[in-house]
Amino acid sequence: MNIIMLGAQGTGKGTVAGLISKETGFPQISTGDIFRQNIKEKTELGVEADKYISQGNLVPDEITVPMVKNRLTEDDAINGAILDGFPRTIEQAQKLDEILAAEGKKVDLVINLTTPKDEIIERMLTRRVCPKCKATFNTKLHPPKVEGVCDDCGGALVQRDDDSNPEAIRRRLEIYEEKTSPLVDYYTQKGVIKTEEISLSINRMGPDVAKDMVEYIKN
Ligand code: ADP
Ligand code: ZN
Repeated sequence: MNIIMLGAQGTGKGTVAGLISKETGFPQISTGDIFRQNIKEKTELGVEADKYISQGNLVPDEITVPMVKNRLTEDDAINGAILDGFPRTIEQAQKLDEILAAEGKKVDLVINLTTPKDEIIERMLTRRVCPKCKATFNTKLHPPKVEGVCDDCGGALVQRDDDSNPEAIRRRLEIYEEKTSPLVDYYTQKGVIKTEEISLSINRMGPDVAKDMVEYIKN
C-alpha cells in the first residue's frame, strides 16, 4: 500500500508516519530526513540541497524526484511505503503517479493532517529531532523521558536549523499554502484522501490518529 502524509509543517506528519510504519512494516520515506542526512555527510546532493533548505525554499524537482524514485525501488518499499514530505507540488504528484504507474502501482491512501495555525508555529519552535534515528519529540507536548536524549536510541536531540529561524518558518508555511495545499483537491478528486484534525483543542494528538489509521489500513 502506498500512503502519502499530507499536512503543513508542525501538524505531526513525521510522528504519525513513524507510528504507522512501526505497526504496518511499510518504510517511512521522509524527503526532509534524506536531505538532512546528505547535508550532514556533505554529499554532492546535500551541498546542493542545503542552498534551498536553509532559506526555507523547496529543493528543485531535478534533485528531489530522482531521489524519491530511487528510494522507492529499494527492496523494503516493494509492497508499499509511507511518503512523508513528498509530493509537495502538483507537478511532484503527477510525477509520482507516473513513477508508481510504471510499476503497476498507485497512491492508495492520502492522510491529510490539519492543525490550527497558532498551534503549528508553537510546535515548530518546540520540536526536537534525533539526527541518529530520526525520532521526533516536542519539549512541551511529547518530551523525551530524559531531557535532550532520544528515548529510542539514546542520541542527543537537536533543533533543526530551519526550525530555529523564524523567517524560514514563515517562508515554509507560505510555500505550503501556495504550492502544497492544492494537493488536497488533487487527491480528493482521486477519492483517496482522509482528513484528520490533530489539535490540543479537541484533545486528539498524533498517536490517536495513527491508531485509527492503522486500523483503517489493516481492514
Ligand atoms: P518541514 O515539512 O517541517 O518543512 P521537511 O523535513 O519535510 O520539513 O523538509 C525540510 C526541507 O526539505 C523543506 O523545507 C524543503 O526545503 C526540503 N524538502 C523536503 N521535501 C521536499 C520536496 N518534496 N520537494 C522539495 N523540497 C523538499
Ligand atoms: Zn534516536
